Amino acid sequence: MANHGDKEHERHPQHKLSWDASRNGGYTCADCKFVGLGPRYRCKKGCNFQVHECCVPPRPDSVAVPLFRDCRFKFLDLPPGAGVDHRFCDACGTDVAGRVYHCFHCDRDMHPSCACMKDDEVIGGVKYRLRDEGKKWECVMCKMRLGLEGKRTWWYVSEEDGESRLHVHCAIKLLLRDA
Ligand SMILES: [Zn+2]
Ligand SMILES: [Zn+2]
Ligand SMILES: [Zn+2]
Ligand SMILES: [Zn+2]
Ligand SMILES: [Zn+2]
Repeated sequence: MANHGDKEHERHPQHKLSWDASRNGGYTCADCKFVGLGPRYRCKKGCNFQVHECCVPPRPDSVAVPLFRDCRFKFLDLPPGAGVDHRFCDACGTDVAGRVYHCFHCDRDMHPSCACMKDDEVIGGVKYRLRDEGKKWECVMCKMRLGLEGKRTWWYVSEEDGESRLHVHCAIKLLLRDA
């Protein structure tokens, strides 16, 4: 991931993409359709085409996700049963509409952006670490114990007090607000 030279993308073949390291604002990834934050690839000619670093070819065919150690995630253009089943990302609990890493063994889905998520993040000046915990904690932002629509999600846990927890989707909201 160190080479940030110009790239090509099959969904936007007419122009090259260049790396934008400025951390201004959130965006919707034109590839996986999921929200992104901070550095990204964007069209060099100024079209509104922005994609995650991990959504630029050649994408890894399979990824190892440390928090789901036993899974084997394969890259798919659409989640299995797309249009029939309503699928959710097992990390952030929000919809999976486009490209996905899928584990056929246990039927887990991950947004490409979530599969490639950093395991720590500074949110509101506090360092948080990503955890997969079965228990139901209260999120310091939305005060809910479960994720969206009752789904289980990963949590960001404060390194400062080791206790304050944020849903991944709430952390993304906060990061977008601060972006
Ligand atoms: Zn993406
Ligand atoms: Zn363009
Ligand atoms: Zn699995
Ligand atoms: Zn996700
Ligand atoms: Zn929350």
